[in-house]
Amino acid sequence: MSIDSLTALIRTIPDFPKPGIQFRDVTTLLADGAGFAELVERLASVARPLDPDLIVGIEARGFILGAALAAALGKGFVPVRKAGKLPGRTVGIDYVLEYGTDRLELHEGQVPPDTRVILVDDLIATGGTALAAAQLLREQGASVLMALFAVDLPDLGGKALLEADGVAAQALIA
Ligand code: 5GP
Repeated sequence: MSIDSLTALIRTIPDFPKPGIQFRDVTTLLADGAGFAELVERLASVARPLDPDLIVGIEARGFILGAALAAALGKGFVPVRKAGKLPGRTVGIDYVLEYGTDRLELHEGQVPPDTRVILVDDLIATGGTALAAAQLLREQGASVLMALFAVDLPDLGGKALLEADGVAAQALIA
């Protein structure tokens, strides 16, 4: 299946979650068996040569793609969640949003020092979420081999933000 066919499976919902935002909804792609399989295979083709120890996915759609990718590579999966969701002891990072701040957390000890990690999310917009997750992983002593996304919104400059901080970033669909 071509990238154009994959792209066509993603729908755009106007004015979600706020007026003026064109939300790229990947649930229509996930619901298509051939499309989902193709997406995971393409993510695996990018990730496999880097030989990561672990895949880390960002809540919430990064769990879906990250877990599928981890299983395809035979690697472990670790979730990065919004504050207060993980049951065990956590380490976290606060980061600035357009309005206010947010916090991402990781189970303590699940990303040991020197782990080679690929970070996964469905989409990169401004890059703020992925940059915070990458910083949290680095604080654990991990190296972030790459931040990998299904979709990039290039006008928002997220990949450049990550790369300026030394995090290689790649998306399948721009
Ligand atoms: P950023 O921090 O790069 O501005 O926003 C990226 C985060 O918000 C990701 O976790 C992503 O899932 C979510 N996000 C922002 N805009 C969209 C969108 O249009 N579609 C989807 N599926 N997720 C979005």
